[in-house]
Amino acid sequence: MTASKREYRGRLAPSPTGLLHVGHARTFWIAAQRAKESKGTLVLRNEDLDPQRCRPKFADTMLEDLSWLGLRWDEGPDCGGPCAPYSQSERKARYLQAWRRLRDGGFIYPCTCSRKDLALAATAPNDADDEPIYPGRCRSREDAAKFAEPAGVNWRFRVPDGEEVRFQDARLGPQHFIAGTDFGDFIVWRRDDVPAYQLAVVVDDAEMQITEVVRGADLLKSTARQLLLYRALGLTPPGFYHCDLVVDERGTRLAKRHDALSIRQLRDRGWTPAQVIAGLGALPR
Ligand SMILES: [Zn+2]
Repeated sequence: MTASKREYRGRLAPSPTGLLHVGHARTFWIAAQRAKESKGTLVLRNEDLDPQRCRPKFADTMLEDLSWLGLRWDEGPDCGGPCAPYSQSERKARYLQAWRRLRDGGFIYPCTCSRKDLALAATAPNDADDEPIYPGRCRSREDAAKFAEPAGVNWRFRVPDGEEVRFQDARLGPQHFIAGTDFGDFIVWRRDDVPAYQLAVVVDDAEMQITEVVRGADLLKSTARQLLLYRALGLTPPGFYHCDLVVDERGTRLAKRHDALSIRQLRDRGWTPAQVIAGLGALPR
């Protein structure tokens, strides 16, 4: 069965690390429009895996702000659904199962490099926004099978150096990245026992049968990483639609500004949902 023949299933995947700002709200609004245009189902997934950065109070505010904006979802932590639970913090057993499959398949290795080791050896990435390419000190380790649990070390995915990863973006057209050059061995599980974003979203998007992922263009390269994970785990990847990022008049990405305008602030200043939506819609996709 091809993705295009299946019923459209999209998702909103906010992370409760602060107040919802207009940049992210716009991506969610586009995701909701895409699901509506396809008469599909929209899933809300609470990406609250990182206990250092996520706060339950932000999760509540986030849902409130999204519904204030008029966004409606069919499945989510507040309304349930066939793929429950919809909060990543309650899905750890699933990520652990994927970690075991990657370990058993020889796709990942334990990495004990310190931050200092990495800072000394890493090559700076071409793109200032991206993580440095891992220099490979631990990549030939063969003791992965000795670990019954991931905690205590970082786990990295061994990327196939030189392989071109291609995909078709529904908005931007053909994309390609070279493994080992555009990105290196990336972390799938952190030493503090938190599954990495890359692993968690692949496991969830596959299990929740998402057919199209709508997110910001800052994640294009992450899509290439994730496609390698889909293949390693024997899962079918969804389609992708990457939106432009909202920038201010100086070209600074809104998401990077600490004073980024939040939906809450606009509400407090008396903006109506219609005014906010009109503002979001006027920005280029
Ligand atoms: Zn290492």
